[in-house]
Amino acid sequence: MAEGSVIYMFCDLCDEETPHRILKGKLGPSTEAGFDGTVQCVPCKSIRKAYIDVEKPINVTSIISTGAQSEKTSIEFFPKEGIKVGDELIWDDHNIIVTSMESNGKRLHKAEASEVDCLWLKTFDSVDLKIAIVQGANTRSERIEAAPEKEFAVGDLIELGKNKVVITKIKIMGKMIYREGSPVEARKIVRVYTRKINEKRY
Ligand SMILES: [Zn+2]
Repeated sequence: MAEGSVIYMFCDLCDEETPHRILKGKLGPSTEAGFDGTVQCVPCKSIRKAYIDVEKPINVTSIISTGAQSEKTSIEFFPKEGIKVGDELIWDDHNIIVTSMESNGKRLHKAEASEVDCLWLKTFDSVDLKIAIVQGANTRSERIEAAPEKEFAVGDLIELGKNKVVITKIKIMGKMIYREGSPVEARKIVRVYTRKINEKRY
């Protein structure tokens, strides 16, 4: 597109979006950003400056870990898009979370995508859920795998092999939850406290 072409934009005089003819300036091919020039409203002939910012995504070098394996790839972001450690994304059908980022040789906690030289992420299709099981005077520790978005609440039953346990409290970052009916996603749980249930069989 070039001079003589028509773009649609808002006209203050017509008070609506109207076709404008490009008098000066160029509109780049769709993959390139921006138009800067002078346009004329076709219905009312008023002339104005136009600047259209077409934001183009950039590729940010990304290292994605799955267990002990790492894969180097790139992820598309808009240049001004904010990224911070802990952000969750979906990539190739996996849940991934930002664990670290580097800009000019420095580790940052958050940045705009355009400043990031390398992003580290890890997949978390399942999380390790730590479970404390109180049995008499002792507390045993076990782990189960859970989907990050699976919810657990005080009062829920969990089957651990042959044992059945009931959740008595849930520890999350900086807080302990004792109330029933307040479900928490597995990804936010530090530890689940449970008590073993002795099932009576008749
Ligand atoms: Zn107009």
